[in-house]
Amino acid sequence: MKLPVPFTWGNRLFTDIETGRVRGGVMADTKAEADKGNYFGAVLAYLVGVTETMTTDAGDSVSDKGQLRSIIREMPSVNSETAALLAMGSIDGNEFIEGVYECPLCGKSLVCEGETADLIEDMDIGEGEADERFSLDLSQPVDIQSRKKDQESVLQVRSFIMRHPTVEDYLKAFGRVGTVDQLRFQFSAYSFALLETDGEERDERWRSTYGPMLFADMDRADLNKIGKWIRSRGLAMRLPKACNSCGKKWDAEVSGSGFFASALGSSESR
Ligand SMILES: [Zn+2]
Repeated sequence: MKLPVPFTWGNRLFTDIETGRVRGGVMADTKAEADKGNYFGAVLAYLVGVTETMTTDAGDSVSDKGQLRSIIREMPSVNSETAALLAMGSIDGNEFIEGVYECPLCGKSLVCEGETADLIEDMDIGEGEADERFSLDLSQPVDIQSRKKDQESVLQVRSFIMRHPTVEDYLKAFGRVGTVDQLRFQFSAYSFALLETDGEERDERWRSTYGPMLFADMDRADLNKIGKWIRSRGLAMRLPKACNSCGKKWDAEVSGSGFFASALGSSESR
């Protein structure tokens, strides 16, 4: 399949990924990560396990597992997530997404299973530019308190540039804050993807120290813009739904981790 966001790794632009069969050990590794609540660890274990080759725009391909692992770890997570979810659908026969959605108007539950489940292949895939960045002028500047040699100072941030968070960023965030606090987990992952603030390049140390403060103090509307940018790439995790009781139509959000968990559960029971 074509990667939603082509990206450069080791001076080569990767554009495609091919997945093949699933070995039992891959399912075991994937489940072990999922059981720890480490969704991106599960995505990594699964995708590395099922990937046969990755190909560049020049037509060269990589099939060495060790190298594939590094590439998959360091590519935009929207690529890894999309490829893993689609592979899980096509290889393992878990092509249906089942779910219970709550009507935003009357609150009644809509159960989608069996004949009313959604086919994963029918979901849209959003594409982005190669190595794309996201830059934003903040609607409200953020003041960051910093301390150097016991000197307190305040840095005001008005704009920033980030790249797509990678699986690696999410794994680091998982190690640092876990996933119980979903928002802080998100802020931590975004921090590692931060490249510049107000035209100044930021290094790993700056990012990991001040990045989480920047995202935590950011206006909610600005945070929504980041989320919207990321969600508009890769598999659209939204499905149009209509309520059986009041007729309300809305786009229900589908959980990638929920799909992954149910697919793992059903492969185990077969
Ligand atoms: Zn309703």
